[in-house]
Amino acid sequence: MRFGLNSNVLVLNRLWQAINVINARRALTLLYVGRGKIVSRELATYGWDGWASGPSSLSEDRVIRTVAVRVPVPRVIQLLEYDRVPRPRVRFTRANVYARDRHQCQYCGRRDAGSKLTLDHIHPRSRGGQTAWNNIVVSCIGCNARKRDRSPEEAGMHLLRPARQPRWDPTAALPPAEAPHPEWLPFLH
Ligand SMILES: [Zn+2]
Repeated sequence: MRFGLNSNVLVLNRLWQAINVINARRALTLLYVGRGKIVSRELATYGWDGWASGPSSLSEDRVIRTVAVRVPVPRVIQLLEYDRVPRPRVRFTRANVYARDRHQCQYCGRRDAGSKLTLDHIHPRSRGGQTAWNNIVVSCIGCNARKRDRSPEEAGMHLLRPARQPRWDPTAALPPAEAPHPEWLPFLH
């Protein structure tokens, strides 16, 4: 967990959609210059003056002491001039497909250590199937061999869940130790 000015702050756009994670130093700068408002646990918004004068009974690790002011560490900031809907893409990589499918065969549900699992083209590549989010799933070696170069329908097999481009999660880029703050949860998923 990072503290003080290095704390992670969730960034919302004007439509209250999570778009990024930044540190508290950057969030307070955006607040100070009037480009953002801090969102409190109660979902109230504060400009610099309101926030710096302190809504709170915060624990010591939640405030920054400077010579002149004592400012609560924000957890969520809303940008005031930014209403673009976030459309970042989760990069299409082997590791991300495994993560999306939770290291689980999407045909039989088996979870094995990496070596027993492989990636399957739902619509076979030999017949024009694309290597893309909506056509690649994790499959165990057994299901992969059974399916051969057939579609799931032809092989009489069913996917556990449709293969889709994963939704972007601004916290996905953070290492596990940087778990989302409770204040973020209303804005994730
Ligand atoms: Zn399987």
